[in-house]
Amino acid sequence: MKVPFLELRAGYEVLKPEIDAAVARAMASGWYIGGPEVEGFERAFADYCSAAHCVGVANGLDALHLGLRAMDVGPGDEVIVASNSYIATLLAVSMVGATPVLVEADPATHNLDPSKVEAAITPRTRVILPTHLYGQPADLDPLLEIARRRGLRLLEDGAQGHGGRYRGQRVGGHGDLVAWSFYPSKNLGALGDAGAITTNDPVLADRVRTLGNYGSHQRYVNEVRGVNSRLDPLQAAVLSVKLAYLDAWNSRRKAIAERYLEAFADLPGITLPAVPDWADPAWHLFVIRATDRDGLQQRLADQGIQTLIHYPIPPHRQQAYADLGLPAGSFPIAEQLANEVLSLPIGPQMRDEEVEAVIAAVRAAAA
Ligand SMILES: *Cc1c(COP(=O)(O)O)cnc(C)c1O
Repeated sequence: MKVPFLELRAGYEVLKPEIDAAVARAMASGWYIGGPEVEGFERAFADYCSAAHCVGVANGLDALHLGLRAMDVGPGDEVIVASNSYIATLLAVSMVGATPVLVEADPATHNLDPSKVEAAITPRTRVILPTHLYGQPADLDPLLEIARRRGLRLLEDGAQGHGGRYRGQRVGGHGDLVAWSFYPSKNLGALGDAGAITTNDPVLADRVRTLGNYGSHQRYVNEVRGVNSRLDPLQAAVLSVKLAYLDAWNSRRKAIAERYLEAFADLPGITLPAVPDWADPAWHLFVIRATDRDGLQQRLADQGIQTLIHYPIPPHRQQAYADLGLPAGSFPIAEQLANEVLSLPIGPQMRDEEVEAVIAAVRAAAA
């Protein structure tokens, strides 16, 4: 049996009548920038996250970079990010002219290790920017405590974390500001590019909205040099439909993750994702570690199972960040994770037979 990594079209097909009706409604509304579809989704997503405000933007990278600009982060400032995050987290810091300062993850959870953060703080540090990587909530309480005590802001990269819970509360309303991507493959995915921020701070919300709208509150009156980064009403209409299914789809992800955790518990040479007792992950990805990762990936491919690597090159080893001057060996945990991580198929539309085929293939390949 062939199992694809993720069948995106299946997520459209199961909701086709509702999504088609929502898109038709948006097209007939006469609102092609902003308007009721965008406002409706912003309200619904803020409520879902237990946040006071949601502001739609064009994509996840803009959500991060406008969040940093709203916090007045700029040249000369430093932002702490996890050394194994997706490169967009660092690119957002670079976009505002600040410097990303890398801190290693806890290899068990793949998330920024709070016990290593304080050693990285300097007089230039402005923001701690953890990622809820693979849908696992970052350990927010100690990060918030450090941020409050040291006068820093907490900005969360929630691009992989929709619906995940930290100590019982959904990610999205804990820190100063959370940046979201609705890239199609995310747990809450649009049919194109889309993003948003959530926050409890009305000043930050207003700043992101202004910055994403040419730096203007009032048409043709520009207070700051903003950009054009707005949530498209057609995507907002799609997202409103899909938001109603997010918890059910995340439950399906969780059931698959639990089946994998149980089925692989005894396999030698494989490390399973650790879930702290305070975490209820969104299971965006199911990432195992294997010392012979490349061999395992090949043996799975031979059996028709498609896997991916998130991510094969850590940001500090990318050519784009050669100027940070961080040689191989400078972040050994990030480098080891990049060599060992392997993402197995997981998704809300995955069928039981496919899950069992992955399990049989992994057990055979690991033996
Ligand atoms: C997807 C993703 C982003 C960027 O989102 P886009 O909408 O593609 O710009 C940022 N950070 C992380 C961790 C992501 O997974």
